[in-house]
Amino acid sequence: MSAELNTPIEFVKGVGPQRSLLLKNELGIHTLIDLINHFPFRYIDRSSFTAISDVKESNAAVQLKGTMGAFSEVGHGSSKRLVAPLFDQTGSVELVWFKGQKWVKSSLKEGKPYIVFGKMARYGQKLSIAHPEMELVEENAIPKGLQAVYSSTEKLLNKGLSSRGIEKLIEGALPGLKGWIDETLPDYLVQKYRLISKEDAIFNIHQPKSEAWSLAALYRLKFEELFVLQLYLLQRKLAYTYKTPGHRFTVVGDHFNDFFKNYLPFELTGAQKKVIKEIRYDLGAGFHMNRLVQGDVGSGKTMVALLVSLLALDNGFQACVMAPTEILAKQHMASFQSYLKDLPIRVALLTGSTKKKDRRVLFEELQNGEISILIGTHALIEKDVKFKNLGLAVIDEQHRFGVEQRSKMWKKNTIPPHILVMTATPIPRTLAMTLYGDLDISVIDELPPGRKQVKTLHRFDKHRLEIFAFIEKQIAEGRQVYVVYPLIDESETLDYKDLMDGYESITRRFPMPDYQVSILHGQMKADAKEFEMQRFIKGETQILVATTVIEVGVDVSNASVMVIESAERFGLSQLHQLRGRVGRGADQSYCILVSGVKLSADAKTRLQAMTESNDGFALSEVDLKLRGPGDMMGTRQSGLIEFKIADLVKDQEILTQARKIAANVIENDPELIDERNKRLKRALVQLQNSRKDWSKIS
Ligand code: ADP
Ligand code: MG
Repeated sequence: MSAELNTPIEFVKGVGPQRSLLLKNELGIHTLIDLINHFPFRYIDRSSFTAISDVKESNAAVQLKGTMGAFSEVGHGSSKRLVAPLFDQTGSVELVWFKGQKWVKSSLKEGKPYIVFGKMARYGQKLSIAHPEMELVEENAIPKGLQAVYSSTEKLLNKGLSSRGIEKLIEGALPGLKGWIDETLPDYLVQKYRLISKEDAIFNIHQPKSEAWSLAALYRLKFEELFVLQLYLLQRKLAYTYKTPGHRFTVVGDHFNDFFKNYLPFELTGAQKKVIKEIRYDLGAGFHMNRLVQGDVGSGKTMVALLVSLLALDNGFQACVMAPTEILAKQHMASFQSYLKDLPIRVALLTGSTKKKDRRVLFEELQNGEISILIGTHALIEKDVKFKNLGLAVIDEQHRFGVEQRSKMWKKNTIPPHILVMTATPIPRTLAMTLYGDLDISVIDELPPGRKQVKTLHRFDKHRLEIFAFIEKQIAEGRQVYVVYPLIDESETLDYKDLMDGYESITRRFPMPDYQVSILHGQMKADAKEFEMQRFIKGETQILVATTVIEVGVDVSNASVMVIESAERFGLSQLHQLRGRVGRGADQSYCILVSGVKLSADAKTRLQAMTESNDGFALSEVDLKLRGPGDMMGTRQSGLIEFKIADLVKDQEILTQARKIAANVIENDPELIDERNKRLKRALVQLQNSRKDWSKIS
């Protein structure tokens, strides 16, 4: 890199002290290279314009060329706005500004020709564009092809740094950089994958010579961004595993064999076998396992956890299973106990509500090794929980735990226990590659046999009588029913009112003594919740009216109907999770999505996707497209999925390729010490410096 590229932004031609301050604060641009790395988010094809008379559709983005007429102010109060007509030979549209009127008036010139870009709206006969992007047509200007559009902010606009203003700064700087932009990827990769050079990419991302060059530049820069991140993740994965010694589970012993031969209640599915094999390989290899098992609801993850725990026991270690809620922990406890009831294996439960007295005994038995398997909530990672020799930690439903908790688990033994993370929230492959890029991933992509697909229907509120009649029939056949209400915010009193109203109308329609209805929500005391839950599990009540407390893990195989009220308010993954509560027995099960008639486009897509697919992975792809990666995963982990130019939704293919190539590079040269890879080593150092907060993420 030339010294010039490090020029502080205030010394770049056309910037100066005032604008430099804004560029730093608003866009994080501190030096010339930062400016050059401020990539456009879109291009205008400067060679094509729509004639105003051809503009018909509302809401379409159009590019017009015409003369702007005189400004006038119309409306009062908050609807006060500045308007001006734009004419071309075929007609006129109205340009409208609600904000920044003073600036608009002083910077745009009446009677001059402009190129105008914006979204068309139609009010009656009148066409208008609010807050258009405007550019003066310079006389005698050489016509351009694709013109870059840059993101800007209101404060920058006020200092003349609109998209065009930023473009001018870059335009001024680029010629002097010819020959100074160093290649950042190894030559052998650039050649092998036919990438354009870094310099060509930088020049063409800002000033594409043609559409083909703009695409090549986009590809090159997106690839580089994704590739370097994958290198980083894969290198770290290598450090966790191969460089961290792990307990070596060499034997398959009595516990495992005895259980497998004599007590396994069903034949494992092919997918379960495959995943156990992958895990066994890790456990025998002498390094520290960090593996994520993704499997749809009902795919049989619990049995995988149990079998792997038995392997730990066979090798002289203890195992623990951590679940995100007390209900789930108890459910795991019940499953483990029933599977192991005839075997001499001590399983214990530890949750927040374990009594102090019992705790003391439990801790003692844990330390002297009498307890072999400990199941519980996050209470497990508290400091005073000490094991004699913990060899395996299973963490169920990972996305509810922070990654910090994962690392606390590591400290439970001098050599960290193997970590098996299980999640029933399928996430798209490309997202997993990034968010869990430093874990090995196994997928249980098969459901146990004989299970009937849940039938999913969408009905409107007004069909409630029909829905009640259906519920009645199912109950008459001995089935049980869930009715779930949204409770997005615990403090939302309106949601509680909906829930209680719903409960009332259900008890009216299904009165005692013929029917029993349970209710379950977050504001109930733990023992009341437990009581109601148990009544339903034992089949004493036919209907369970609940909020999403039941979302995870509850397993009542006799329940065959899941009614989801206000289904339009739930996210796709939540709907799918809820649906997973039914279809666990041999009977045909149903999921009924109840919504209002008025639905947003996204809500329609979600509900339709649910009725069309039972595949959690397919639904997660839809979800990713609807919400984007950041919203889908919540903000906590979004640092890893924020990119300068790449887009995890659109660039899945590039990512897949980048991952493959990165794996190849790391396999051949794990430490990147080969002279040929020295640029990559530098890129990783830069990446780490620019994103210090990452260390917290995993
Ligand atoms: P999840 O992956 O959602 O945690 P579970 O482990 O709770 O799924 O399993 C769901 C149900 O399927 C349980 O009732 C379990 O006993 C049953 N099950 C698991 N594996 C098999 C199998 N291979 N064959 C038949 N039933 C199975
Ligand atoms: Mg489970």
